[in-house]
Amino acid sequence: MVKDGGGIRPLIAGNWKMNGDKASVAEILAVRDALAGPLADLPADVMIAPPATLIAGFAAALGASPVLLAGQDCHPKPDGAHTGDIAAEMLRDAGAVAVIVGHSERRADHGETSSIVSEKAMAAHRAGLTAIVCIGETKDERTAGKTVAVVCGQLKDSLPASATSENTVIAYEPVWAIGTGLTPTPDDVKDVHAAIRSDLATLLGQEGTKMRILYGGSVKPDNAAVLMAVENVDGALVGGASLKASDFLAIVRTYEAKRC
Ligand code: PEP
Repeated sequence: MVKDGGGIRPLIAGNWKMNGDKASVAEILAVRDALAGPLADLPADVMIAPPATLIAGFAAALGASPVLLAGQDCHPKPDGAHTGDIAAEMLRDAGAVAVIVGHSERRADHGETSSIVSEKAMAAHRAGLTAIVCIGETKDERTAGKTVAVVCGQLKDSLPASATSENTVIAYEPVWAIGTGLTPTPDDVKDVHAAIRSDLATLLGQEGTKMRILYGGSVKPDNAAVLMAVENVDGALVGGASLKASDFLAIVRTYEAKRC
């Protein structure tokens, strides 16, 4: 993944979660065709994270397309007795260039702590994958006024020492906004992204000023432009709206007006 000379190159990443089958290649091919045609010079990277079972087939179907593929999780270890788990190296072998780690559904459903997330991000780096590190507060934490403390605490504890602006992307995803149709106001997003940017600069110096910070949580075609225009929002992690190529492409087109 590359950055523009002038600034941070945005990333629109779709997280399919536990959805899709081999026939869903049609959605991927529609995205591929748009990027080979009408959206060919889009100043943003475009990525899909399908279920791991689909990565190899999708990679074959995409061929030389700029559409990037990612996994949704990986194990910290490269191999061994870990039934049902997938190593970062296996995702890379299948055709992924990135992996989502620390999604709130993994943190909630599988008890993943930020320390485990950091190990997974390190595993991604070891395998040559970009780690998309998810952080975000619950509704109760927001109501209690703890949003920035929670998010920045997760950031510090989830980022491994190997993190650079090239191999790591942060995704701020308020847990209460995921899959609910609710979103924070643009001002709220701006405040949290500013806090993340400031802490990234403290933790990583110059690298932190260049690292992409995505917003995720009920991004849809009708709110993407407003959310993507917020300062320090360098793209989106999109769940439900990434399942249909037409919706996902409508979000991707947010960056069409910004072509050079
Ligand atoms: C997600 O799961 O990362 C996500 C942002 O989901 P949705 O867009 O459906 O809220």
